[in-house]
Amino acid sequence: MHLDAKIPAGPLPQKWDRHRFELKLVNPANKRKYDIIVVGTGLAGASASASLAELGYNVKTFCIHDSPRRAHSIAAQGGINAAKNYPNDGDSIWRLFYDTVKGGDFRAREANVHRLAQVSNLIIDQCVAQGVPFAREYGGLLANRSFGGAQLSRTFYARGQTGQQLLLGAYSALMRQVATGKVRMFPRREMLDLVLVDGQARGIVARNLVSGDIERHEGHAVVLCTGGYGNVYFLSTNAKACNVTATFRAYKRGAFFANPCFTQIHPTCIPVHGDYQSKLTLMSESLRNDGRVWVPKTPGDKRPPSQIPEVERDYFLERKYPSFGNLVPRDVASRNAKEQCDQGKGVGETGLAVFLDFADAILRDGRAVIEKKYGNLFQMYDKITGEDPYETPMMIYPAVHYTMGGLWVDYNLMSTVDGLFVLGEANFSDHGANRLGASALMQGLADGYFVIPYTIGGYLAGTRFAEAKSDHAAFTDSVKHVQERTAALLAVNGRRTVDDFHRQLGLIMWDHCGMARTNEGLAKARTLIQELREEFWRNVRVPGSEKDFNQSLEKAGRVADFMEFAELMVIDALARQESCGGHFNEAFQTEENEARRDDANFCHVAAWEFTGDGKEPGLHKEPLVFENVHLTQRSYK
Ligand SMILES: Cc1cc2nc3c(=O)[nH]c(=O)nc-3n(C[C@H](O)[C@H](O)[C@H](O)COP(=O)(O)OP(=O)(O)OC[C@H]3O[C@@H](n4cnc5c(N)ncnc54)[C@H](O)[C@@H]3O)c2cc1C
Repeated sequence: MHLDAKIPAGPLPQKWDRHRFELKLVNPANKRKYDIIVVGTGLAGASASASLAELGYNVKTFCIHDSPRRAHSIAAQGGINAAKNYPNDGDSIWRLFYDTVKGGDFRAREANVHRLAQVSNLIIDQCVAQGVPFAREYGGLLANRSFGGAQLSRTFYARGQTGQQLLLGAYSALMRQVATGKVRMFPRREMLDLVLVDGQARGIVARNLVSGDIERHEGHAVVLCTGGYGNVYFLSTNAKACNVTATFRAYKRGAFFANPCFTQIHPTCIPVHGDYQSKLTLMSESLRNDGRVWVPKTPGDKRPPSQIPEVERDYFLERKYPSFGNLVPRDVASRNAKEQCDQGKGVGETGLAVFLDFADAILRDGRAVIEKKYGNLFQMYDKITGEDPYETPMMIYPAVHYTMGGLWVDYNLMSTVDGLFVLGEANFSDHGANRLGASALMQGLADGYFVIPYTIGGYLAGTRFAEAKSDHAAFTDSVKHVQERTAALLAVNGRRTVDDFHRQLGLIMWDHCGMARTNEGLAKARTLIQELREEFWRNVRVPGSEKDFNQSLEKAGRVADFMEFAELMVIDALARQESCGGHFNEAFQTEENEARRDDANFCHVAAWEFTGDGKEPGLHKEPLVFENVHLTQRSYK
């Protein structure tokens, strides 16, 4: 199959305008004839649902939570990027585009990234109009701070709760449409299958998580906004409910999965403290605006930080990357922290941590200023660790945070299945091999508010639809498939809990497909995953019944999907014999331990096709063409 990204012709800055003009339109009176299913109510799903309903489509929106507001987007802390250039420090749409392509280590599509930079400014206007309380300067202009991979300030924020405030804005827009009747909201539903009729996505099968009923929902198009799959590692900064089920089951119905091995490990998280921990906590990247990262120069130095004199400290990011300092991109900062710990310079009880120190900033600006900027993050750190970061440096370590891989989509955000669109973290589109901080919120809202409202119209207006009601054989087959899988999980009746398996899977992935990878480790991981999966289906214990509220059953279904998906990640990592961004294969590094790309052989998107259970997935390559940005070795020195 030829992967056609459908990138419009013409000069880069004009592609989106031209495409919007060329896309077919649905007449306002005809929009009410179309039903659109949106799965997910994070920033991508809530903004898409609200915008599509506002246009006049009938929207059915689903989420696994009791309220759309509980989507993981609510947890986003640091901010959202846009090229407004309010601080007058040299930003532009082109610079945001350039920084994002470079930050992604040249593994993203130029056209998508440029569009993202273009619409970034509209997002801020939209959110301000909704009343999102962005931080402001004294004069009233919206304030900006810096995030990694940029030498200027373009990040808009609402203290350390930007995701929450943005989601409240999108949620309000969504609920307005629920009130008008244009959106029907289905909370506590888990999509368990995608239904295809004549090769088109025409509906979903979902489980009502309260009653256990298996429901059929039909529509003319399906929009997946189901977030990322970082929880394959068990421990991550993601909300516990984040999962791969919707996208993986769509993959099994023909949607290609792109770059699944591209995972982001965030440098500043509260370190793991024990075997029974189930969640990791992010300390926002914004803290690196003022916090200085360091370790003792001498390996094994276990003195408290206050007793280590300045000359015996190594501010390793400032030393190695004088231009970007502590604000190098996440992949670079994470690898460097790991390197210091591998050399025995790690701090804290486990030696798997580095300091993030605010002493200089407090001395310079005063405690009140720091408290105003980061107060809630400091409080969170204090509550979790019992240490006061105003008095002693934070201890941080990298943790799984975001997934750049996702379902392959073309410029219209449509997958390889006609009528199946994928938005937000669930798609692979804009961040290449490494996402820059504060760019996920930008992408989710760009997709939902400003891209899908146009591109879905183009699809609907140009497509003929067969009759596909919920009693169609395709729905009946899908329901049967879902019921059989559920019954199989309950029938095992083994001795190990779902969490126990999940934790073991996570360790395999962290050890062998995490921050650093080797071919031997990946090959070993593949065998270990296969063995664990075999044991899972022989020995997992899922108590309760399918006809009831049953969280063990929910988890079991998600972990069963992770068990299969993890192998796809490993296969992808093995196929990509280069290092780029978050994918760091130790065999491919520069003399200074930076990721060494192989543009001659791997300047492509790897899109995987499901070919059957137990069969090798098929690899399709979308070549990446760089006409506007010169491919170079990334440097942040
Ligand atoms: C702690 C933390 C802090 C972050 N801070 C920032 C930041 O400051 N700036 C930034 O740009 N990015 C940040 N990110 C990343 C960003 O928050 C996410 O990438 C983004 O919010 C994802 O939005 P989304 O709409 O794609 O998915 P989500 O917000 O994850 O929403 C997924 C939705 O899908 C639903 N769902 C999932 N599976 C199913 C299913 N099978 N059936 C039905 N519904 C389903 C869920 O119920 C939910 O409604 C942060 C991430 C973390 C973990």
